[in-house]
Amino acid sequence: MAEKTLAEVAAGLKARKYSSVELTRAYLARIEQAQPALNALVTVTAESALAAAAVADQRLADGTAGPLTGVPIIHKDIFCTAGVRTTCASRMLSNFISPYDATLVTRLKEAGTVMLGKANMDEFAMGSSNETSYFGPVHNPWDPKVVPGGSSGGSAAAVAARLAPLATATDTGGSIRQPAALCGVTGIKPTYGRVSRYGMIAFASSLDQAGVITVSAEDAAMTLQAMAGFDPRDSTSVDVPVPDYTAELGTPMRGLRIGILTEFFGEGLDPAIEKSVREALAAWQRLGATVKEVSLPNLPLSVPTYYVVAPAECSSNLARFDGVRFGHRCENPKDLMDLYKRSRAEGFGAEVKRRIMTGTYVLSAGYYDAYYLKAQRVRALINEDFRRAFGEVDLLLGPTTPTVAFGIGDKTSDPITMYLNDIYTIGANLAGLPAMSIPCGFAAGLPVGVQLIGPHFSEGRLLAAAHAYQRETDFHLRTPAGWAADFNPASKAGAK
Ligand code: GLN
Repeated sequence: MAEKTLAEVAAGLKARKYSSVELTRAYLARIEQAQPALNALVTVTAESALAAAAVADQRLADGTAGPLTGVPIIHKDIFCTAGVRTTCASRMLSNFISPYDATLVTRLKEAGTVMLGKANMDEFAMGSSNETSYFGPVHNPWDPKVVPGGSSGGSAAAVAARLAPLATATDTGGSIRQPAALCGVTGIKPTYGRVSRYGMIAFASSLDQAGVITVSAEDAAMTLQAMAGFDPRDSTSVDVPVPDYTAELGTPMRGLRIGILTEFFGEGLDPAIEKSVREALAAWQRLGATVKEVSLPNLPLSVPTYYVVAPAECSSNLARFDGVRFGHRCENPKDLMDLYKRSRAEGFGAEVKRRIMTGTYVLSAGYYDAYYLKAQRVRALINEDFRRAFGEVDLLLGPTTPTVAFGIGDKTSDPITMYLNDIYTIGANLAGLPAMSIPCGFAAGLPVGVQLIGPHFSEGRLLAAAHAYQRETDFHLRTPAGWAADFNPASKAGAK
């Protein structure tokens, strides 16, 4: 028996094939085994997990359980968790214990999930390879010599190695979709404003969005159901009713109009990735979808636009880490200026400093119009391109990444090459659109992802399209050798 998806794990709990405590023990044992090789977690919360699992078992027994009751989960270490340290993978917050839970954490806790620990990530979510973490890089379970992608690399690696059936994640420029693609798992970035960001440490506030990484689209639908919805504590959260995502999964594909993005199939795309993505497209066509080529002429400007807007907003958001209120404080400061300077110099890593300096520069008097204002204008043009495209098609399709996972250390010396990883993902963030990456094949033994982008609040449509494809294929169910072979949580090894 191989318990693979969240839906299967949840069904096993309902059927009392195993208890939540047994399941939690089994996953904790897997984490312990995988940690030295993958480094996917920053903190493991075994004791509180087992206590929460016991409570979940009670609810499963007395009939008050919901669809996620007793299901183990890992939270990206960007979400505040009361009483458990929240580091954002930075030295700056390496000892920070939040006094409250992020809304997303609260909602998933109320839904009965059991937190196993906090996932490793790029420092302050800045990166595409998980190499900027203060706690060291995360390794890709498909090949420990390659990166898992970033910034939600710990979340993606953990789900790929089945260290949990799901992990929360965030996406500012691709950080859910890119690692999901590189690790062969399913990732959804909802519409900007769909999921509360209260208690999620801010990187670039006009782009950041919380989402989830799972094995399947069905699992993502079940999770989003519990996560989504208005939160009065987040001023950017939108008061739009949450549809029944699971009920929408069965929507037929007949007549669905898919737009192929011309700009995503040009120079720089690995031909093996193009092949897998086109094969995936053919699968949707067989299911009755129609295909049309769509051009978004301003989309190639998304990387330079993003690398003005995101650093500008990060330089402002990260000003709060000054050594006074919380976070790292230097030893024996001579005066206030010395305290600020040394605390920040010691607390932040190189990539974070690079972003803060770039952001401060583009916002400075005299340069604001030339950079920040101009970037905002280009952003409006990109939005307009998407708006026009969604007048003609129901969703847009393309690759998630230009290449498969690259070697650890291969791109660290050249930030621009690293930034180009997000060439296909950033557009959706600039326009605030929901987007998903789902596994669609392998190239050189490493996973390939196909990306779907929809109009605002079309998560149900994206999930239905992904689900229809996953019913025809098994790429999302394949697991890396050695990590996620048959897993029986009720066996002796699991229940030890
Ligand atoms: N890789 C992009 C960056 O470094 C996106 C990161 C993210 O989505 N958090 O900014």
